[in-house]
Amino acid sequence: MKLRVGLGFDSHALIEGRSCVLGGVRIPHPTGPVGHSDGDAVLHAIADALLGAAGLDDLGTLFPDTDARWRGADSGKLLEEIASRVRAAGWKPVNVDVVVVTNGPRVAAHREAMRRRIGELVGLDAADVNVKGKSPEGLPAADGAGAVVAYAVCLVSR
Ligand code: MG
Repeated sequence: MKLRVGLGFDSHALIEGRSCVLGGVRIPHPTGPVGHSDGDAVLHAIADALLGAAGLDDLGTLFPDTDARWRGADSGKLLEEIASRVRAAGWKPVNVDVVVVTNGPRVAAHREAMRRRIGELVGLDAADVNVKGKSPEGLPAADGAGAVVAYAVCLVSR
């Protein structure tokens, strides 16, 4: 069996009046991520981790933010498409692990819903998906207006 690991990262500023979708879960919150798509930094980081593991470009190359087709796009649809391309390239996702750093919504309250949703999108059991929320602990880069920063790793096998 051959194993490969991929790393993904994404960040979006949070602003008032944007709907807040993180990890494919809509969260009631006064701010939400700015973005060409729905701004789901968690799913974007996972998408890049999967693509990295499979050696298939990156999210921005496959779904450029200059393309009007992806404006307001449901990132869940993009992640499903990417998971199917990874499988088509002969790689099977084994697990996903994510760290979400934000001074916005409390991730812990939505962790189980995110694990289930990410599992559905990638084709994994929720038990093979982990999501950990972290406070930025006052770091200026993530304080102020607010932000969400996500790091993901994904293992694939063939
Ligand atoms: Mg993004």
